[in-house]
Amino acid sequence: MDKNAKIFIAGHRGMVGSAIARRLAAAGYTNLITRTHAELDLIDQTVVTQFLEHEKPDYIFLAAAKVGGIHANNTYRAEFIYQNLMIEANIVHAAWKAGVQRLLFLGSSCIYPRDCPQPIKEEYLLTGPLEQTNEPYAIAKIVGIKLCENYNRQYGTQYVSAMPTNLYGPNDNYDLNTSHVLPALIRKAHEAKVRGDKELVVWGSGKPMREFLYVDDMADACIFLMEQNISEGLFNVGTAEDVTIREVAETVMSVVGFDGEIVFDASKPDGTPRKLLNVDRMRELGWQAKTSLRDGIAKSYADFLTKSAE
Ligand code: GDP
Repeated sequence: MDKNAKIFIAGHRGMVGSAIARRLAAAGYTNLITRTHAELDLIDQTVVTQFLEHEKPDYIFLAAAKVGGIHANNTYRAEFIYQNLMIEANIVHAAWKAGVQRLLFLGSSCIYPRDCPQPIKEEYLLTGPLEQTNEPYAIAKIVGIKLCENYNRQYGTQYVSAMPTNLYGPNDNYDLNTSHVLPALIRKAHEAKVRGDKELVVWGSGKPMREFLYVDDMADACIFLMEQNISEGLFNVGTAEDVTIREVAETVMSVVGFDGEIVFDASKPDGTPRKLLNVDRMRELGWQAKTSLRDGIAKSYADFLTKSAE
């Protein structure tokens, strides 16, 4: 990527998009295009087409999406499938029409079958049924991958897909109803410490296993992929290590400095038992995650404290 290349970051206010924007700016990329939701509604095909036709960026990072944790995915099912499908279809189609040659589409590890062998290889896509709690989101993300793949095949574009494991970090969502587990635990542990509680409530059984990637590492992987001369494909991005929900709760409690008991709320779903990614494809290209879980949680907690003080 030329440092003056015109780069559109769709979703630059989200956790991943903002991390990509920070990293691109730090690496000396000067020509970044961003639009807020109010300025450009990505669900509206007409305005997206006009926008890309007018801007004609050289590169697009497609980090815009409706995202959320297990409860949000399971509750707002129609919104998750509709909004994600529209955003992807509008941007990919308009990008091709505007002559954009390179695009990076961001998905999620929940696209893989619920009970597939671990660690999950990219080729396991579409080999079995999905986890029910986030099926609408996963189906939309699978469509995004297939859009890229088929526009490449028919039109010769170079649209690549990156599938991150569970992400966390600055600009995360800390709303307990819609967030993912890590920001939820940071908030709960912090509030429990401040109130002087004796217990921390953790959803489900604590037994599911999750792999967590610090979002700056994800941004690094996205830019790395865009800088490679790759024309197509699906790339898992993770740390290659997972922990139980109980273990992550204990690490969060230790970072936050809350010394109470964990209580499990069995009325909440566990979701997928395990989703550890196989990251050999990225490793073969020469990329690896850098931030340890404990360091990432410490940085996230610092960001949470800054935001809650504002
Ligand atoms: P998932 O990876 O798509 O299942 O999404 P989440 O990050 O929301 O949840 C991961 C796991 O953490 C599930 O087993 C949840 O039940 C569990 N979990 C434990 N406590 C919480 C919490 O306070 N919020 C959320 N979102 N999940 C929690």
